[in-house]
Amino acid sequence: MNHKGDYFRNSIGIKTAPLVMYLDMNSYFASCEQQRHPELRGKAVGVLTYDGPNAAVIAASIEAKKFGIKTGMRLGDCRLLCPHLITTVTHPAWYRQIHVDVMNILRSYCDDVIPKSIDEAVANFHSYYLVYKDLTEVARQIKADIARKYDYLKCSIGIAPNSFLAKVGTELQKPDGLVVITPENIDEHLAKMKLTDLPGIASANERRLRMIGIQTPVEMRHSSAALLRKAFGGVVGDYWHRRLNFGEVDMYSKTENRTMSATRTMSRQQSSDRQQLESMVISLCTRLEQRMVKSGTFCREVYFSIKYRDNTRWETTIKLADPLQDAVEMRSYINERIREFERSRNVATVFTDKTTNLTIAIQSFVKDTVMQYSLFDNRMKKDVLRKVVYQIKDHYDQKNIVRKGSEMFSPYVMKDAIGFGSVRDMGLNKDGQVKNKHMLEEDEQPGQPRQVVIKRKEPVVQPVEEEIFNDIWDGE
Ligand SMILES: [Mg+2]
Repeated sequence: MNHKGDYFRNSIGIKTAPLVMYLDMNSYFASCEQQRHPELRGKAVGVLTYDGPNAAVIAASIEAKKFGIKTGMRLGDCRLLCPHLITTVTHPAWYRQIHVDVMNILRSYCDDVIPKSIDEAVANFHSYYLVYKDLTEVARQIKADIARKYDYLKCSIGIAPNSFLAKVGTELQKPDGLVVITPENIDEHLAKMKLTDLPGIASANERRLRMIGIQTPVEMRHSSAALLRKAFGGVVGDYWHRRLNFGEVDMYSKTENRTMSATRTMSRQQSSDRQQLESMVISLCTRLEQRMVKSGTFCREVYFSIKYRDNTRWETTIKLADPLQDAVEMRSYINERIREFERSRNVATVFTDKTTNLTIAIQSFVKDTVMQYSLFDNRMKKDVLRKVVYQIKDHYDQKNIVRKGSEMFSPYVMKDAIGFGSVRDMGLNKDGQVKNKHMLEEDEQPGQPRQVVIKRKEPVVQPVEEEIFNDIWDGE
């Protein structure tokens, strides 16, 4: 295939030459375990964060998947499907080491590589169109290089004109896939998929598309941008149109610079009641949580400010190692800062009766499609649950029909466990070991992951029904 003509014709606008490569390791955690422990190879293996009666499988081997075992399933349910399932606990340091090795292999072919998660990366070969005659050959060499170092690890590689379609390519063939998507064959590939097979299209988006008469990915691709705007309510529709028609949306989007904020102005009467001020903080957090769930993002920075009548401010910025979406978590970080300040300065409360404004702003967004979950099934399930709750709310078009427990009251247990932090924070230290400055700890002993349980007693607050918010969307 010769796409160089396309490349030059479109060098300013849309590039249709398939020069973006997406790599997705297959059944990553389980395969890493099988790599390290040859006795597990060829067997149904489930990886657990801890071994216990309520454990959930966070990764299943290729063999286990054949029995219908999926990520997030309870061990008991797994045993019903596959009684001989072998379980093992996670070894994060090992997975990170292999991640770095695989990234180095990719970078030996292309210097424009972005890790998207612990087991996925995208490589932009646009500057290499004269260097490599055939990217499928490069893909085969990459697979061979990985196999030489880790003989049991397999990956699916997609090659396409943009990173989204390249990722779609990895979904089409698993395990050990190699799929090239071009303008000539794209409809043939999309015809094999359902709407929800597209990364980023879950049931809520599927419903939106069906409502405007789009039933399949092929129909979606051939719909006008205007129609897709109708389905997604704005510029997001344009993004989808571009994704499916070879434009790049996902690699160069400026999601990092966006800010979302929610502000509440208080009457004198309201600010005299501390309880009410605190419950407003919750409602601001919940508002931002909704925005993040809807836009499919997590944030890594939270800014909180209290403005007083004399125009002074109390403010704090919280930078997070693990991206956050949950309102209760957000509030607990804010509360922590407030308590810290109140204790150290011997101040009774920052929520004085001179309060006029409360503002929370969040930024440093991470897309949930590239968000890798910490090795922590609770958090992963919570994220899925939160999405489901909002989908139900959307479905009934009635915001108050479903409320999470945390929206009603908030005594809770915050668990902390081993996370990966961001793959961007990974690197090798002087001894050649993988280090991540956000890691709470290094590899734990099998069967004994450390869990820090922080219990907090929090005041019970009533849900706030109607509020006026000033939401600012920078960009989009
Ligand atoms: Mg994978």
